[in-house]
Amino acid sequence: MDMKEPTRRRLLWTLGAIGFAVATSSDSVRGTSGTGGRESAARPTPTPAPSRPRPTPTPILPGHPAWKPTPVQRRTAAVNNLKDLDPQRATGAISLTIDDGPHPKYTPQILDLLAEHQITATFFVVGEMVKEYPLLTRRIVEAGHQICNHTMHHPSPFDRIGSRRIRREIVEAHERIAQATGVVPKFFRAPGGAWSKQVFETTAEFGMIPIGWEVDPQDWRRPGVGRIKRALLESQEGAIMLCHDGGGNRSQTVAALRQVLPRLKRRGLTFVPL
Ligand SMILES: [Zn+2]
Repeated sequence: MDMKEPTRRRLLWTLGAIGFAVATSSDSVRGTSGTGGRESAARPTPTPAPSRPRPTPTPILPGHPAWKPTPVQRRTAAVNNLKDLDPQRATGAISLTIDDGPHPKYTPQILDLLAEHQITATFFVVGEMVKEYPLLTRRIVEAGHQICNHTMHHPSPFDRIGSRRIRREIVEAHERIAQATGVVPKFFRAPGGAWSKQVFETTAEFGMIPIGWEVDPQDWRRPGVGRIKRALLESQEGAIMLCHDGGGNRSQTVAALRQVLPRLKRRGLTFVPL
């Protein structure tokens, strides 16, 4: 029996689902005397369907001819506080937004910190960084954080670059983020908070809400860990906080957040995505 077993098995494999059932019952008859100890313990069970990769529906993302953004009302000012999005949800809540990444050095440090404190944050990513670091971008989303549009190349001043380029900056980043993560961003932040009528119009056209900030520690200037920390600790319920993980050396930001996050949590504030 031992000599013939491999041949018989090969044959059974080719019989697909029925073959699987036969092989299972045959193994159980063999008991524990055979060489396949683990298999022989298996009782005959209803034939499981052969596992086939399930066809995944093709998502309709930006760039797809059938993609249509969810309509949103055009705003004439950016949202700076969670209360402007939903007064109910703002109770006891605070939002940490992180701009200009993903960055290969600082984004993973911030992700680890957020995981350590079980905090969900919002990342406004730059399309060209997403293009360079698609896996890191996906890691942000897989960790449960929110991903949002912060233009393709972060041009500045954003409100002065001309309408066609403004549109291109938003569209390209939208497509790039969607391709990398499967997520279509619902929020947009203009580089440097440089808004204009046209920026608001284009933001709404692509189904996004314009987001500003209430608490700005100016961490991108690298003013020192203490100053970043003090500014962030001023945050009250409903505040949208601005920090950066890209665009330069962000070690001060990481060091400040390491101290600030647990302190804000101890105050009873809950970090929420937008
Ligand atoms: Zn920025």
